[in-house]
Amino acid sequence: MLQGSCHCGAVRITLPFAPNKATDCNCSICRRLGALWAYYEVGTVVIVGHPEHTESYVWGDRTLRTVRCKSCGCATHWEPLEPKSGAKHGVNLRMFEPALLQAVEVRRFDGADSWTFLD
Ligand SMILES: [Zn+2]
Repeated sequence: MLQGSCHCGAVRITLPFAPNKATDCNCSICRRLGALWAYYEVGTVVIVGHPEHTESYVWGDRTLRTVRCKSCGCATHWEPLEPKSGAKHGVNLRMFEPALLQAVEVRRFDGADSWTFLD
């Protein structure tokens, strides 16, 4: 259950442990992607097929890149452009079996405006 992939399978992700929370953010990029993000320390998630099978998107204040599969277009994760020690990145839980999400508390985050959780 800790293994997920994009639709075509070119990008495969293995989590170090199951998430207990996910963030549903309404900022301009997240609401379009429809992603549910879980956060892990950079380097702890095994991502196969990245960067050779991925493309990324950088915008705004250019602190992070949103990564998608070059072939099927699924947004798999985001990562800081310049990861500092202990930095976290987001993994899109939509790339995993639905059973993984069933055990996760989804929190709505107002990334569009107040930068706080809405629940
Ligand atoms: Zn793919």
